[in-house]
Amino acid sequence: MGRIFLDHVGGDRLYACAACDTNLTNRNELISTRFTGATGRAFLFNKVVNLNYSDVQDRVMLTGRHIVRDVSCKNCDTKLGWIYEFAMEENQRYKEGRVILERALVTEGDGLEHEI
Ligand SMILES: [Zn+2]
Repeated sequence: MGRIFLDHVGGDRLYACAACDTNLTNRNELISTRFTGATGRAFLFNKVVNLNYSDVQDRVMLTGRHIVRDVSCKNCDTKLGWIYEFAMEENQRYKEGRVILERALVTEGDGLEHEI
């Protein structure tokens, strides 16, 4: 067992793991709030840090077939959502490399640090 190294993103509105408060991403990385996850409303982010990734999975969704990995908190291992590795449908390709975080599993708060 070793120390877990966590990244920190700056910004005004921070999203953190609801279970352990580890910083994950911020409002600037938010692409869309109109997604649905296992627990309800889910957000699509451009970049999220401090995640662990599952093995690749082939999943058929309402918007077509996607290759995804489940993502969990690097600190407490709570499952938070998934990342799109590859989308089969041309009009869904914008999601590749983007991360879904389930609204119920993250908290949104004001950032204490401001970076340029
Ligand atoms: Zn956590």
